[in-house]
Amino acid sequence: MKAGSGEGAHFVLFGGERIEFRLRRTDRRTLAITVQPDLGVLVTAPEKAAMATVLEKVRKRAGWIRRQQRFFREFLPQTPPRQYVSGETHRYLGRQYRLKVVKAEESSVKLVGRFIWVHAPNKHDRVRVRKLVEAWYLAHAKERFARSFTECGARLGTRLASPARMQLRRMPKRWGSWTRRGVIYLNPELIKSPGSCIDYVVTHELCHLVHGHHGPAFYALLSRAMPDWEQRKQRLEREGAETGCPAAPCGGRGPR
Ligand SMILES: [Zn+2]
Repeated sequence: MKAGSGEGAHFVLFGGERIEFRLRRTDRRTLAITVQPDLGVLVTAPEKAAMATVLEKVRKRAGWIRRQQRFFREFLPQTPPRQYVSGETHRYLGRQYRLKVVKAEESSVKLVGRFIWVHAPNKHDRVRVRKLVEAWYLAHAKERFARSFTECGARLGTRLASPARMQLRRMPKRWGSWTRRGVIYLNPELIKSPGSCIDYVVTHELCHLVHGHHGPAFYALLSRAMPDWEQRKQRLEREGAETGCPAAPCGGRGPR
């Protein structure tokens, strides 16, 4: 490899997050950045361009790269339909667990180590296994979201005008939403994301009970309650890409 070539994998940091890219040297005279449909980033740079210059250019285009990736993400194939058989991986609180379906008289679902154990009278009855797993997710979502709701609500404290209530609701394109009557709806799918992301969505929605818009006052409040909300939001977007879930707390009406 030529000195200073640096062809291969690199990354820059943007908003506390890594933007990975592949560098290719060419005899062209200008540097070009391409985001590919699989979300990969390819940088072609002149042979002579210094590595520091390449990194600086990528950093400058980071916002654009993220926007392109968001655009392409919409077209990526969704997670394949779940089969509910042993060996399949399922996400819970941001981690992968393997399903283990075993025959037992009593139906139950338990998390042990890196496994989700499902006990069912007939382990080949996928509909039954799916229902058991879904009920387990739902129960854990209720519990985890309630905790988040209490803790994040306490952080906002007296700024919340009215006592808020939390309910679960399946929403195809939103992680959460809110009503003027003080009800926060949370998407039960959110239980598959890390706890820090759940807290972010809850805090975001709670802030809407104070400011019913996405204006500067809203973001000032959100930043006071949760200074690192942007990193959490980005993490949630990555999770969404992996699970094929929606990627915004309020249906994508967040800031660009
Ligand atoms: Zn919002």
